[in-house]
Order: sequence, then C-alpha cells, then structure tokens
Amino acid sequence: MGIVIKFLKNLIKKPFTRRYPKEKLKPYPKFAGRIHYFPDRCIGCRSCERYCPVGAVTFHEKGKIEFDMGLCIFCGMCRDVCPPTPKAIKMSNDFEFADAEKKIASKNIIES
Ligand code: SF4
Ligand code: SF4
Repeated sequence: MGIVIKFLKNLIKKPFTRRYPKEKLKPYPKFAGRIHYFPDRCIGCRSCERYCPVGAVTFHEKGKIEFDMGLCIFCGMCRDVCPPTPKAIKMSNDFEFADAEKKIASKNIIES
C-alpha cells in the first residue's frame, strides 16, 4: 500500500531536473564563469599571467591578453591580483562553453 501512495505522490510531483537549456540555472553569488577582459582598464602589469596556477593566461601586450578557457580552472586568481580599480578582469556568470569547434572553445579572447 505504501508503495502505491508513493507512486501516486510522485505522479503529481514536479520533476527535480531542469528543462535546460530552456530553463537556465541561476549561478550562486561569487560564481566564477567565463572571463571578461576590459583592455581599456589594463595597465599591462602581467600579474594575471604570472599568478595563473595553470598557465592559462598569455600576455601579448597591454590591451591584448589571451585566456585559454580549455586550461582555466576558474579559480579567479587573475582577477584577484589585477591591480586597477575597477579591475580589468571580471569572472562572469557565463558557464555555457559547449561549442562544435574545439578550437573556438579552448582559445578565447574575451573583450568587454
Ligand atoms: S581564473 Fe585562475 S586558472 Fe583561470 S585564467 Fe584566471 S588565474 Fe588562470
Ligand atoms: S593583472 Fe590586470 S592590469 Fe595587470 S596585465 Fe593582467 S589584466 Fe592587465
């Protein structure tokens, strides 16, 4: 009998899963997603490149930095050590990295 009640209850319950991508997950506060780089704020100190624990940051010149999102572990260190106020690096809420072309997904230069 118990199992029948449970079955009937589950029939009218809302599903636990989300209908992604129609229904998107709201990232929690301080979520670290895709990196946004603001070249006009950058002072060219190279701290982001120096402190990245996985070597995902390649500094070309002031205003031109490459972030390899295939290597990035989203620790936020590059943002934390970026000296200008406001910072030249922001961790956005964007977590959707799926792409048909691996080249595009792993090499990302994002300028805001
Ligand atoms: S978030 Fe961390 S791993 Fe990703 S580029 Fe910045 S320092 Fe490197
Ligand atoms: S740490 Fe910030 S200011 Fe320094 S090079 Fe990187 S992005 Fe530019």
